Amino acid sequence: MTTAEPRPIGLYLHVPFCKAKCLYCDFYSMPAGEETKDAYTSALCRAIDEADPLCDTVYFGGGTPSQLGTARLTALLSHIRRTPDCEVTLECNPGDADSLDFRALAAAGVNRISMGLQSANDAERRALGRRSDAATVRRAVALARAAGITNLSLDLMLGIPGQTAESLAKSIDFCLALEVPHISAYLLKIEDGTPFAAMRDRLALPDEDTVCDDYLQTVEALTAAGLRQYEISNFARPGFESRHNLKYWRCEPYLGLGPAAHSFLDGRRFYYPRDLQAFLDGRPPIPDGAGGDPAEWLMLRLRLMEDVTDAAFAARFGRPLPAAFRQSAERFARQGLMTVTDGAAALTPAGCLLSNPIIGALTESAAEIDTN
Ligand code: SF4
Repeated sequence: MTTAEPRPIGLYLHVPFCKAKCLYCDFYSMPAGEETKDAYTSALCRAIDEADPLCDTVYFGGGTPSQLGTARLTALLSHIRRTPDCEVTLECNPGDADSLDFRALAAAGVNRISMGLQSANDAERRALGRRSDAATVRRAVALARAAGITNLSLDLMLGIPGQTAESLAKSIDFCLALEVPHISAYLLKIEDGTPFAAMRDRLALPDEDTVCDDYLQTVEALTAAGLRQYEISNFARPGFESRHNLKYWRCEPYLGLGPAAHSFLDGRRFYYPRDLQAFLDGRPPIPDGAGGDPAEWLMLRLRLMEDVTDAAFAARFGRPLPAAFRQSAERFARQGLMTVTDGAAALTPAGCLLSNPIIGALTESAAEIDTN
């Protein structure tokens, strides 16, 4: 598989290893020994060499990429052709920080680190099955900074069993006190097949209204602290938005390598199945059809707080947004769920809470475009 992309793309590397599974997680990951990690690193290096993409963003996601350790991560980076300003993000388990050499990682190109805090309340973290405590997260942030990596992101989770408005406020304050320039705030979703799904009835889950209040409380607190909401679940100081993740939402090309990794390249989507052995054996990805049509573009773009405009749509598809889109957006604006100014539409925080039905209704208007 080779890429004929004339411009730099994003590269996602999935690392399917975790020390233990968190109770809510359905990402493709498993515990692994050193031999398996070595074999996987070699397989990834081969896949990178074969595709040989020029990258302006690289994202080590998982799973727990930090479980690979410094030597394997730097080896992988040595195989990736990068632009001088390439953003290289490493998802890092705070508990791995002491065993990583952040200076060596920074020298190899890592310039952004994303860590899972979920909650600063250790009882809430334990309820999720997370291993490290808030003090470990604080220490990991300090270690990364001491190595010169200052573009840091923390994950927060809303809707955790036992979470209250007060404990959420403390978690937000914990992040703000660390002065990280990026925070992701996700709602806990109970995924089928996870331990949480099996114990759903016994979990002290907050009700829907409480979770909505929690979300609005989070948006308000982070915005007041200068972190602009730029996507439904993501907040950043200006200039610290995740350039890699913006590619997903803007329907720009990226290559994903590793089991469970998805790609959008040359207008086509394809993915590797959730099968580590298949990837180690060098089996090719599975085609998933064409991508980037007007409906998909709208569906992804509406997640961003960037205005959806005639100009942006026309730049991509050579025609204006359909009248049906504008009419639907104005209807949602009258309900306080969107803003529409001079034809530029975006979700409000209240609209973000209903993003699925709203985006579904708005993308239906894309059908009109396709039949024009
Ligand atoms: S560390 Fe992340 S990927 Fe691993 S099990 Fe926990 S939530 Fe899932």
